[in-house]
Amino acid sequence: MAEKLKLALYWAATCGGCDVAVLDLNEKILDLAAVADIYLWPVAMDFKYKDVDAWPDKFIDVCLFNGAIRNAEGEHMAHLLRQKSKVLVAFGSCSCFGGIPGLANVANAAEVMDRVYQETWSTGNPDHVRPQTSTTVAEGELTLPSLYDTVASLGQVEDVDYFVPGCPPVPERIWEVVGAIAGGKLPAKGATVGVTDKTVCDECSRLKEEKMVDHFVRPHLVMADKDHCLLEQGIICMGPATRGGCSARCLNAWMPCRGCYGPTDNVTDQGAKMLSAIASIMTATDDAGVRNTTSGIVDPLGTLYRFGLPTSLLHRAKTKSTAGGKNVTHHH
Ligand code: SF4
Ligand code: SF4
Ligand code: SF4
Repeated sequence: MAEKLKLALYWAATCGGCDVAVLDLNEKILDLAAVADIYLWPVAMDFKYKDVDAWPDKFIDVCLFNGAIRNAEGEHMAHLLRQKSKVLVAFGSCSCFGGIPGLANVANAAEVMDRVYQETWSTGNPDHVRPQTSTTVAEGELTLPSLYDTVASLGQVEDVDYFVPGCPPVPERIWEVVGAIAGGKLPAKGATVGVTDKTVCDECSRLKEEKMVDHFVRPHLVMADKDHCLLEQGIICMGPATRGGCSARCLNAWMPCRGCYGPTDNVTDQGAKMLSAIASIMTATDDAGVRNTTSGIVDPLGTLYRFGLPTSLLHRAKTKSTAGGKNVTHHH
């Protein structure tokens, strides 16, 4: 039998859902175990960074890296795992585009700390204590990674071989990428795996009637017609601005597309593309009418750039950088 693949799975700024997606392989996980040995998987196994340091360069065949880069530890591990892996895969929307953690780019590191350690209702912090990168205790020095002002995608700090979008990617994609590499069928470098060059709308079976809308409404406030296009019912659905490949998974579950597959190849900015789709279906023709209609879009930035603010043209909001909150140097 051919030698097994050496597999590493790592999480940076993540919710853990991408790791759970690997477990969702269910019985296929046995097929994975048949072709690959897992050398690193922090969510499931204890390991030490010094063990990773000790590996020879390119020791790992495939590294599935999920999560965005938002602190010094994430960036360090991105560089280290690039060095130690033959194939580095940006796994999941956070790693591909910056994802949900990337929405922190509306603030800087100090503002994020203030919100979390001071301003939330459930926080009692009369001494205004903040986490420190270094603290001396009787036993020695304790350290924490510094938080960056700017959240980045994996591809913005390191050279990525393949991109697997999805929040989280569907289990079949994991198998597709690992199985292809195990079988020696590597996609072209830089490829986005498991996607089409069409949009989610092209995969959606809902009826489109080119209806115009005079208002927008959040999905939980209405009982949507189950057969018709949600956008034409005034529910923001990112389908027109989102790359296909998921078989319109959310639409099949009666939910609008939230855009997790990112933009298509010929679109740079997913939010701008969606804005143009929204503009094209509005009945309003004057400024007041447009303002009135779009007032129904709650949190436009979080809606239009939910998964990709760091890799969008906007990249981040303009705020002051903070001491210790280093801005990530971009690779590309
Ligand atoms: S892509 Fe989605 S599931 Fe994966 S870490 Fe990010 S938020 Fe979680
Ligand atoms: S906008 Fe949404 S509901 Fe309408 S066709 Fe596109 S994916 Fe389907
Ligand atoms: S429908 Fe949209 S949000 Fe849902 S899985 Fe597909 S791309 Fe992601």
